[in-house]
This record gives sequence, C-alpha cells and structure tokens, in this order.
Amino acid sequence: MRLRRQYLTQNDCYRTDRTIQVQGVMVHSTGANNPRVSRYVPGDQEMGFNTADNHWDRPGLTKCVHAFVGKFADGEPGTVQTLPWTHRGWHAGGAANNTHIGFEICEDGLDDPVYFQKIYEESVQLTAMLCRQFKLDPLAEGVVICHAEGHQLGIASQHVDVLHWFPKRGKSMDDFRQDVAARLREDPEPEEPEEEGGDGGVTYEQWKEFMERYRQELAQLPSPDWGLEELERGVAQGFTDGQRPQDLATRQEVVSMIVRAEK
Ligand SMILES: [Zn+2]
Repeated sequence: MRLRRQYLTQNDCYRTDRTIQVQGVMVHSTGANNPRVSRYVPGDQEMGFNTADNHWDRPGLTKCVHAFVGKFADGEPGTVQTLPWTHRGWHAGGAANNTHIGFEICEDGLDDPVYFQKIYEESVQLTAMLCRQFKLDPLAEGVVICHAEGHQLGIASQHVDVLHWFPKRGKSMDDFRQDVAARLREDPEPEEPEEEGGDGGVTYEQWKEFMERYRQELAQLPSPDWGLEELERGVAQGFTDGQRPQDLATRQEVVSMIVRAEK
C-alpha cells in the first residue's frame, strides 16, 4: 500500500471543527471515468498534478471524503488521505457521516480487470489499516460497508456505489470484508515498533492524528474571560479574525498579526 497525505484544507468540510468516534469504514466509488487521484486533489510529483483546477481543495463543495484510492503519476495505485481520519466527513449523505470514515475509489471505465485488481487490493489494505487503528471488526454488522449498503441500512443517501462495479469483477462486499479480515489475521500488528525508551506504543502516524485532534479540541475552546475584550478589539482593528482563540499560532500567523496591527 502506498499512502500519502494531502489534506483538503480549502474544502468547507475541512473547515468545520467536528470530529467523530470512528465506528466503521464506508467504501465509495466516484461514478466518473477518472482513475487518477489527481482529478480530486491538487497533487504533487508522486501523485501527479491536477491541471484542470477542478480538484476538491476549494470552497463551495458540499462533499469531502477522508481518502481517494486511484492511480498515481506512475500509473500504479496509491491512496491519498484528504481529511484527518477522525474529522467528520461529508461522504454519506446520511447519519454514517457521524460514524464512518469514507473513502472514494477512483473509477475508470469499469472495464479494466487489471486496474480493478490493483485498486481492490489497495482498498483492502487501507481498510485493514483503519480497522487496526480504530479497533474495528470488519466482519461485524454495519462496520465495513459500501455506500449502497449504507442506504439499505438507512444511514446513507441512495447511491449504487460500489455494487454497480465490484460484482462485475466477481467481488461482493462480503468478499471485501473477508479479504480485510484475512489481511488483519495475516498481519495483526504491523508497523508498531516497540522502541527502547518507549514511546507508549504510539506510532508517528498516530501521534500526528492525536496532534490533529488536540488542535481541533483547542480550536473549539472559547476565549478566556480575561482576554475577551482584547480579542474583540483585535477583531475590530482587523489583525485577527477572532476564530480559534485557544489554538496554537504559527510563526507566520504571528508575523501577519504584528504587520496588520502596525497598519
Ligand atoms: Zn458514494
């Protein structure tokens, strides 16, 4: 599995501060013949670049998923994570947004068995990784489901993905769940090195997730009483938007505030 990260920070969904307790994973497919992930993210050297300026890293869209699985620049499959896993996504059109991580598989013309085999395997690995990270049982009811199954369960809007595609290539969602479970059995505890000195068993990837969560928690805290008046003055004078008063500031933000305060 090849995992990269490019958060869609300009998407309105990313700009909300809602997080979820992950209880499942929802598999989607895009419904359009664009197998490259760079159709949906700005991209980079490895993933390829979006040249049409139609990616999802922009305001005004009513959808956002946690990841895309599709072709990278070299034509081989990969995954790009586009939201923190615990961020509430806009993928299901229903209550599953409150419980499920959602990822999109980039469709081709649905006619290439080689492409299907590769992105199927990549999707199994991604789902297994998420089940491991969030301690999910892929075989339990309603945990690993596709969008169409979510609709049947009453927690997603009426879409056909991925049942218009997987069965064509001889795979059901039950096969998918079994393959995820098999992957977990094969490799129950990979990439969790117990280092000397001990880091509490937290991997770097997990730490970044925690950091992301921590910052989202900070961002939701109100201004302390002693600072309210100054915050309001800062907004009135135009050197801060007054948002996220308890979040961490970057050096760039500090410099920008000083320069704006000078005006
Ligand atoms: Zn869908």
